[in-house]
Amino acid sequence: MAVFVLDKRKKPLMPCSEKRARQLLERGRAVVHRMYPFTIRLRDRVGGALQPLEVRIDPGSKSTGVAVVRKDAETDTVLHLAQIDHRGAKIRKDLQARAAFRRRRRGANLRYRAPRFDNRRRSDGWLAPSLQHRVDTTVSDVAKLRRLAPVASIAQELVRFDMQALETPEISGVEYQQGALAGYEVREYLLEKWGRCCAYCGAEGVPLQVEHIRARALGGSNRVSNLTLACGPCNQAKGAQPVEVFLARDPARLARLLAQAKRPLRDAAAVNSTRWALKTALEARFGPVRVFSGGRTKWNRSRLGVPKSHAIDAACVGEVEALRGWDAPTLVLRCTGRGSHCRTRLDRFGFPRGVLTRSKTAFGFRTGDMVRAEVPAGARAGAHVGRVAIRATGSFNIQTAAGVVQGVSHRHCRLLQRGDGYGYSFLARSA
Ligand SMILES: [Zn+2]
Repeated sequence: MAVFVLDKRKKPLMPCSEKRARQLLERGRAVVHRMYPFTIRLRDRVGGALQPLEVRIDPGSKSTGVAVVRKDAETDTVLHLAQIDHRGAKIRKDLQARAAFRRRRRGANLRYRAPRFDNRRRSDGWLAPSLQHRVDTTVSDVAKLRRLAPVASIAQELVRFDMQALETPEISGVEYQQGALAGYEVREYLLEKWGRCCAYCGAEGVPLQVEHIRARALGGSNRVSNLTLACGPCNQAKGAQPVEVFLARDPARLARLLAQAKRPLRDAAAVNSTRWALKTALEARFGPVRVFSGGRTKWNRSRLGVPKSHAIDAACVGEVEALRGWDAPTLVLRCTGRGSHCRTRLDRFGFPRGVLTRSKTAFGFRTGDMVRAEVPAGARAGAHVGRVAIRATGSFNIQTAAGVVQGVSHRHCRLLQRGDGYGYSFLARSA
């Protein structure tokens, strides 16, 4: 895994290897600038030769993959893999709780009054706070990477499948004409259109095969409107039968299937508003963003024979000839927020529970700081690295990659990095 390098004036230089960073630190030529992602700062150098790097993003609803890649003539070298674990569900829950408190308070003190204004109109680009959070954390991570590395371009996976390419395959270059990439776009399209389940039995979470509704043997075409997805057993059982015969015992499903098959392409292309909002936000801050389809990402991944993960998917976004260094560990940024103003926790019935201290600092630590604890003896003996949750007693909890370690004394803790709204950990190297 590469180490980010800054010059004396905190301007980004080319990332270096772990070995090189160790040498620089041992010789006193560099200091540690930041732990997560690991960054060193040279004490004696200003400026240096730079190659353009690319940040690649694969936005997801629960996790977003981010990769920093150096593009060489033939090969792309992965320098940094990260995965942002969003907390949209937590934000949604918090806002629902707030709305419930407000509703109760209003009902308690005020008789019903008909609404006098329509002040509930949302502006055009409005996203729910839980979705806006996904955009904001991703943009802020890209901004951070731009401060640590010479990032010249940004590539983002925008849509699941490339609709224009499905409709007019001849415009989109040699990969489409040879049919390999087109197959992936069709598959992504069908997954979206048929809801990721078998069209004949509704099975979910099983391998799905592309299936001709009107069999090829009966003169059915290869057009996407004649294609659906079926599980292995259904595909076998149907064979070349007409769909009306195969589903004769389930007329409701047959009617649904035929109606769904006729739906035009455009309806199935559920526009993912968060992905578009992310593109808009990135372009507003950093200039043009190159966008690609999920079909292409999948095609790259299977062609290059790399495993699936959020971060590696991000590295596979765009035109990739060959990929090197994808087996590095992935830095996981778990969005945690920076705590709350509220000093009263409630149990699930709304009654106050426990007492929180007025001060958010205890023994020099704050909840959210990344610490390393070396416990010399006892049940928790050993080294623990993670995000700390403080207690006024000085007996802290540490959220490590393996789980929570409870009751570690503040005397064993050493600060690694101040809390910044994320809990950091690493995913092991991919096989
Ligand atoms: Zn089935």
